[in-house]
Amino acid sequence: MIAAVVVDVPSGSVNKTFDYKVPPGLENWAEPGMRVIVPFGPRKLQGFILAVKQSSSVKGIKNITEILDPLPVLTPELIDLGQWLAENTLSFYITAYQAMLPAAMKATYEKFFTVLRPEMLSSEVSVLFSASGELSLNEVTKNHVHLLKKLQELTKTGVLDVVYKVKDKANKKKVKFVSLGNKTEAEELLNQNGKRAEKQKAVISELLSRPPGEYSLQEILHETGASLSSVQSLCKKGAVYIEEKEVYRDPYQGRNIKQTEPLPLTENQQNAITPVLDSIENNEHQTILVHGVTGSGKTEIYLQSIQSVLDKGKEAIVLVPEISLTPQMVNRFKGRFGSSVAVLHSALSIGEKYDEWRKILRKEVSVVVGARSAVFAPFENLGIVIIDEEHESSYKQEDHPRYHARDVAIWRGKYHSCPIVLGSATPALETYARAQKGRYQLAELSSRVHSNPMPEVTIVDMRDELKKGNRSMFSNELMEKLKAGIEKGEQSVLFLNRRGYASFILCRDCGYVAQCPHCDISLTYHKRYGELKCHYCGYKEITPSACPSCSSEHIRFFGTGTQKVEEELAKVLPEARVIRMDVDTTSKKGSHEKLLTSFGEGEADILLGTQMIAKGLDFPKVTLVGVLAADTMLHLPDFRASEKTFQLLTQVSGRAGRHELEGKVIVQGYDVEHYSIQLASQHDYLSFYNHEMKTRKLHQYPPFYYLGLLTFSHLELMQVVEASEKAASFLSKRLSPDSLLLGPVTSPIARVKDRYRYQVMIKYKNEPELRNWFEEIIAHFQKDKSIKDLQITGELNAQTLM
Ligand code: ADP
Ligand code: ZN
Ligand code: ZN
Repeated sequence: MIAAVVVDVPSGSVNKTFDYKVPPGLENWAEPGMRVIVPFGPRKLQGFILAVKQSSSVKGIKNITEILDPLPVLTPELIDLGQWLAENTLSFYITAYQAMLPAAMKATYEKFFTVLRPEMLSSEVSVLFSASGELSLNEVTKNHVHLLKKLQELTKTGVLDVVYKVKDKANKKKVKFVSLGNKTEAEELLNQNGKRAEKQKAVISELLSRPPGEYSLQEILHETGASLSSVQSLCKKGAVYIEEKEVYRDPYQGRNIKQTEPLPLTENQQNAITPVLDSIENNEHQTILVHGVTGSGKTEIYLQSIQSVLDKGKEAIVLVPEISLTPQMVNRFKGRFGSSVAVLHSALSIGEKYDEWRKILRKEVSVVVGARSAVFAPFENLGIVIIDEEHESSYKQEDHPRYHARDVAIWRGKYHSCPIVLGSATPALETYARAQKGRYQLAELSSRVHSNPMPEVTIVDMRDELKKGNRSMFSNELMEKLKAGIEKGEQSVLFLNRRGYASFILCRDCGYVAQCPHCDISLTYHKRYGELKCHYCGYKEITPSACPSCSSEHIRFFGTGTQKVEEELAKVLPEARVIRMDVDTTSKKGSHEKLLTSFGEGEADILLGTQMIAKGLDFPKVTLVGVLAADTMLHLPDFRASEKTFQLLTQVSGRAGRHELEGKVIVQGYDVEHYSIQLASQHDYLSFYNHEMKTRKLHQYPPFYYLGLLTFSHLELMQVVEASEKAASFLSKRLSPDSLLLGPVTSPIARVKDRYRYQVMIKYKNEPELRNWFEEIIAHFQKDKSIKDLQITGELNAQTLM
């Protein structure tokens, strides 16, 4: 029996399967989709069996060393999907398969020295091997680095050998349980006297007092004050059993989640859910866009669609942007479907994620709620995939494999003949365009469930405020409303759009801006540490007290960070209790949730924050939303800048007046005439869509054209220029006349980590060979020995140009 294995070497030359023999003992076990360990050159590597066959044309093939999984971890569907994924994202097969599995299942490798000729070792070296007969390189570099040279020499002369071991991080949590054994034995023990028996008797009585069953050993010890050794001697006598069992690490354990019942749908909801239910009923793949304003009852539609999928014995995946995967959100699904829900969230530990994932593989759950990568949940009877906030950019992975969760979901929908539901108040332009063309079905939910009106939005031009002599970052109207809110005991949310608006250091005399010496972007000021920091490479320096360029002392930090807003608030509204949420205050695990809970419990008047407060939050007492600097994102070199601004403003506004109290939104900025701000304030998606589509058409951007992007980076500028020019001329000879070739030009971020970046862009409608040409270019430079360390990434459907 032969297994075709793809091995853990992300490189173009091994981007294929290799044949290995399945040793006779493992023949009944080996199946496609299992992880294995195989010899590869001098190393041992992890790999995946993609197929098994009877024979191989390759001579001298080696044996599989070990099979790591009792059952396949990749289903036949996922094996196919991985191939498609790798080919369409220009990634290696191994990278695609690894992306589908929890991080815990990716092996790490360790190097060990072992002894071949013990008699040749000095006592100094010999003692290192005495414990286990082997010595990890890790251990040597940590504790015996002075011996490294010697060990290497001994290896050369054949006294020592080097072996590679694969470490599987996928460890399972085990807990000891105790249960009553032989009953007569136990009752006899109760009649015994003697001090030593006291604790043992306590254990027996405790177990007898409970319904028959097994109980956590730790709990029993805690209840009775007995020691482990007393229970162990009970075990020896046969009075109790101790058993070690695998348990799941459940981050949601102990939470009280209220059970909810399906709500009778409104007429609007009924209309919107019909195509979804039809698709489920007829086992027919459809992509359905549910376009509904915030509060229009999309989530209830998701819940009832899932119910109908579960009724058919099938499974459901719900994707939610990382940032909105709040406990509130999770509870809505757990409240309806209880313990059949698994949650895959990046805030979980590696072990917790692995456990949630195994519940899926073992079919112990039938609903998964999770961020982007949950789209790979290994269900075999998938009945629906729902993507909430489908326009969110976090659904695109900006690292290998550069996939979009929406594309993967639709692939799976076709495979399983089931519906894919895309939900949003502000669908991506691409999505809405497809719905208009009829490629997706469109379901519109045009009003809120409780028909409370959309909040009223006021736009404030901060230039006018300045003319009126108001130099603060809060307009007069915003100040008034914040004060009034505090007096009435209502809550406010202050949103600061920080993307592209980091607080930087500027010299007022010469205009010097502190820049990262390794990347072409300005450094961000962090007041708490008195530091300037680069968000791309992590470079840090102490904030200068004088301008490094002209020595002026008029160097200060500029721009509005959340810290600065918080300080201002303390000055002008000292009575306000403020909770600040940004990357600095939420870096600790669980802090995000803690801050939100305390705001929900009314412990603050104002929630101040960045992007992370824009979504999903639903607090009944919030009546005011203030947006500071609404226009900052408009000026980024990104063709989606207007779309992102519109989406963000719509989303933030949706935080106000979701319940009985009426909501009010105040939007501040300097460039507030822009259509994305004006139309967001009127809650007018369709006009925005039409306006933006004209702009995109004019400038030949998606959804009218796809963007192919090749990015080159190298430490030397000349190398990137040369390579990108070669690539551009290669492409220009081949592209069809309808496609446009732009560049090579420097990337919008021209240097990162000292590497210069150049790009070649292709705008195309139909270019079936483009993928092959990109692959050819990448392979060409990989083989070219005259350019070392050139990095190239290719993308066929780039979402951003950064
Ligand atoms: P969306 O997901 O579109 O933002 P939600 O599903 O959160 O909207 O619905 C907004 C509110 O309306 C929620 O509090 C929800 O419980 C309630 N709701 C939704 N559908 C109904 C219904 N059919 N009847 C009564 N209340 C509903
Ligand atoms: Zn940097
Ligand atoms: Zn200066």
